[in-house]
Amino acid sequence: MRVLKFGGTSVGTPESLLNVKNIVENINEPVIVVVSALGGLTDRLIATANNARDGKEWKSDWDAMVERHHNIIRQVVPDNMQDATVETVDNLLNDLARNYEGIQLLGQLPPQTLDLIVSFGERMSAPIVAAMIHDARLHYSPDFIKTERWFDRNIADVPLTEECILKEFPAGSVRREVTGGFISSDRESGIITNLGRGGSDYTAALIAAALDASVLDIWTDVDGFLTTDPRIVPSARIIDEMSFVESMELCSFGAKVIYPPTIYPVFHKNIPIRILNTFNPQAPGTRITDTPAPAKGIVRGLSALRNMALLTIRGNLSADIPQMTSRSFNALAREGIPMLLLTQENDELRYSCAVASADSQNALKALEKEFAPDLLAGGLEEIHADDSLAIVAVVGDNMRDARGISARMTHTLRRNGIHPLAASEESSKTTVSVVIKEEEVQQTLRILHDLFFSSPEF
Ligand code: ADP
Ligand code: ASP
Ligand code: MG
Repeated sequence: MRVLKFGGTSVGTPESLLNVKNIVENINEPVIVVVSALGGLTDRLIATANNARDGKEWKSDWDAMVERHHNIIRQVVPDNMQDATVETVDNLLNDLARNYEGIQLLGQLPPQTLDLIVSFGERMSAPIVAAMIHDARLHYSPDFIKTERWFDRNIADVPLTEECILKEFPAGSVRREVTGGFISSDRESGIITNLGRGGSDYTAALIAAALDASVLDIWTDVDGFLTTDPRIVPSARIIDEMSFVESMELCSFGAKVIYPPTIYPVFHKNIPIRILNTFNPQAPGTRITDTPAPAKGIVRGLSALRNMALLTIRGNLSADIPQMTSRSFNALAREGIPMLLLTQENDELRYSCAVASADSQNALKALEKEFAPDLLAGGLEEIHADDSLAIVAVVGDNMRDARGISARMTHTLRRNGIHPLAASEESSKTTVSVVIKEEEVQQTLRILHDLFFSSPEF
């Protein structure tokens, strides 16, 4: 049994949807197809909700959504299923309009209402795809993807979700099943939630892991996982094979191809992931496994994470660095703030950690509280946050045995006028990263991609 996920780019137009139909109907084994909302629709749903909240006109946006869905149904759904599909989608669109009206009336858009608004994307695309594919059956993902509250977020309740998936797809029952990705429901209240932007990948992975699928195919609009973002570095190359760990590192550091939490459940069950192109289904794509052929060079790929902040603690740190690390880490963890990078300067007077910009003020408060006694006693001088930064990560399993990579990167960047604010220490890890100014991301990726993929040195 295979799980296939088609992203928004693959379900954006009648032409791309017909590719999806061909791909699925040509597979002669049981499949579960997970689809995103029509390409760009989630963004539109949110923008229109913001307009309604601000008292602006929303009806023309809504009209365009109606037109787009009707047009797609007319072009891809077989004649005998068109009326029923239009009716299903129209009911949803009318419900959506009532919600926009309510938002405008109240002038408010609380998070739960926004979760409801974005859910319409997958609730409409899934019935269209199910009607389009011959002999397909539709499933409603909030019935079996369950979330729980974690600080101010919803996160998947994995054990409960696994149980629900096994009930939804009993052994031997899978033939050609279709479901929307991304959306879920709260385990306690049952209200609609989601797995976060880009979360359809994760829905597919949770299903693949629960049902021990033979493979998870992520169908998108590029020929595979590339050595870096092709929109920034056009010479980026397709990676034939990579390890779970490499893909996890690249995606956590911003490679948009796969939503980061996706990899863990399939990694855990050793289910390979393939990245394939809906617009070029013959291309071999990228295969992610735990035993890939080693990369030719040291580096497998590069990625960048924007909207970062760096928290720097200054003072006499020579005392107990491991303790500093664990205290900072725990202080942030208690607030549910992920720490993305930790560095300590050689002079031992500066210790930095990177967090998302959105978390920077809370992170600063958490560290100030944790280190208040040290600040008071004068052992530490100050803690401050710098914003508008980015992390560029260089990833490769081969890096575990290499030395001097971080220094080589920093040196090359400095020669080109980029002065990293911090660099992760080298250890036996797969990733080396540098913190730079946000506006330097493109140049940094180009310089480092050139260094690792075009210079004879690597
Ligand atoms: P989908 O709608 O299929 O989920 P996404 O937009 O989420 O697609 O992800 C695919 C896009 O990710 C590609 O169009 C590509 O521009 C971008 N991308 C960024 N970094 C990479 C990379 N390293 N390899 C491949 N694609 C990348
Ligand atoms: N439609 C959702 C989004 O745009 C989920 C997804 O596409 O994976 O974020
Ligand atoms: Mg995606």
